[in-house]
Amino acid sequence: MISRNGKKSFYEEAMETFGRAADLIAMNPRVRMELEEPDFEHIFYVTIETRDRLVPLTSEEAAQFRDVRPSSVKAADALEPLANGSFVLHRRALLESDIELRRGVINIPQRGVFRVQKGGPRKFKAYRIQHNQVRGPYKGGIRFHKDVSLDLFKALAADMTWKTAIAEIPFGGAKGGIKIDPFNYSREEIEHLSLRYVYKFKKFMGPYLDIPAPDVGTNPEIMAYMMRQFTDGEREMHKMRGVVTGKDVRIGGSEGRLKATGQGVVYCIEEWAREKGFLLPGARVILQGFGNVGSSAAEILHAMGARIVAVNDVNGTVYRDGGLDVPALVHHVHQNPANLRRTVAGFPGGTAISKDDFWRIDADILVPAALGEEITGDVAERLRVKLVAEGANGPTTRDGDRVLAGRKIDVIPDVICNAGGVTVSYYEWLQNQRLEHWTEQDVNERLAGALKKNYAIIRDIARDRPQKTADRDSRPYCVGREVDVRTASMILALKRIEAHYLLEGFSQ
Ligand code: NAD
Repeated sequence: MISRNGKKSFYEEAMETFGRAADLIAMNPRVRMELEEPDFEHIFYVTIETRDRLVPLTSEEAAQFRDVRPSSVKAADALEPLANGSFVLHRRALLESDIELRRGVINIPQRGVFRVQKGGPRKFKAYRIQHNQVRGPYKGGIRFHKDVSLDLFKALAADMTWKTAIAEIPFGGAKGGIKIDPFNYSREEIEHLSLRYVYKFKKFMGPYLDIPAPDVGTNPEIMAYMMRQFTDGEREMHKMRGVVTGKDVRIGGSEGRLKATGQGVVYCIEEWAREKGFLLPGARVILQGFGNVGSSAAEILHAMGARIVAVNDVNGTVYRDGGLDVPALVHHVHQNPANLRRTVAGFPGGTAISKDDFWRIDADILVPAALGEEITGDVAERLRVKLVAEGANGPTTRDGDRVLAGRKIDVIPDVICNAGGVTVSYYEWLQNQRLEHWTEQDVNERLAGALKKNYAIIRDIARDRPQKTADRDSRPYCVGREVDVRTASMILALKRIEAHYLLEGFSQ
């Protein structure tokens, strides 16, 4: 692949492992070409009508309006707080209220002095990258985040192609989302945005075509909006429930899906610990990201007796050497309506420390479960852990990888470590097709079996130990020499994908 200005793009960097593994297996050149770039790159725009807002004045501006009489707004839910300090102004604010406005400024006791800002139409950039579908329908998450790009989604979509092959589920790879900071929009605006995304993209989606799921900034609620928009008015709408996964269990979601990614991370850690003779009860864990993946992994590890000594997220880090009270932290982040950014910052059960100090904590296991490219070469030099279990997608840079390998810190690569989410998404899709409902125990037993088997094959490839046992056959995948685990994972993915092309052939 050609690099511009001598600097590799994020996608090009992410594809380095692909190139290495493709060389090692002497991949068919045409198949390689098919996989080097996505099948489709959809970039489109969605518009919504935003509501009026109350935007806080600076203290200097507010001083000029000191004599504006305080207003009292009676309807409790009329002002919806946003993370940037503004409030969405719902029309019901007028009901039974006593309001004074001066030149568009309002004074609300205990909240502040605000300017009323008119809402109106807004346009957002949206993406869906469909990387490959040779093994099954495109599959991958929807991300709502301010820092997304074509380059990022291309890398994440390709990762899904590898991940679904490694997890042995009959799906391909895709990823997409919207460039937005969702914390600065109301629930209703997010609903409209999600509906509009599907309205625009509907012709390219479907339970046998492209199946979205939650990712950073999205959740089961948003999946419900998307399913509704896709199925509403369709004659056989119940057949289409599998068009999105990660839904609430009451509307066709799977038991165990909410925690599946975190659960999968823990199954992989358990396997690593079993092999090393390492005991998880009492183990010291540090975790980055406390959203869906991070908080689920933390809850499961905590219940197993591990100590979560520090958690870092985008707004801060909390630390307690004896171990944080995880249920209390989950409550602080996810169940406290005043915590608008859903952050660990401000948690009273721990001490605030800097991100720099977070990386230096003496621990056994690091679980990155936030965004990509966090473990750079520099960070990897500072880590004092035995294992990095990648809950996030792409958390380690190439430099980071080289340093970790040099320092003999083990890595469980993202494509197997966080594959629990997409694996249970497949179980959800199967239940939807069959109109069945499986128990959480059923789901978790299947998940544990699938992840542990494929992680074992990856380790066989890495150590060049081809073998057939009761639960796995790694002989077709070993390449006659030892490789690092990330390359080993890619070899497993590519061999499985290549088989489809070679056995099915190409329609010219
Ligand atoms: P989420 O939106 O629920 O949580 C994201 C977390 O990351 C938040 O705690 C946020 O504060 C933190 N974060 C964001 N930017 C950060 C920064 N610069 N520094 C530190 N922390 C930061 O997202 P999620 O669904 O838990 O996904 C987390 C990661 O796991 C992502 O990389 C995602 O692609 C990956 N993943 C998610 C799933 C899934 O099922 N949700 C499946 C596989 C992989």
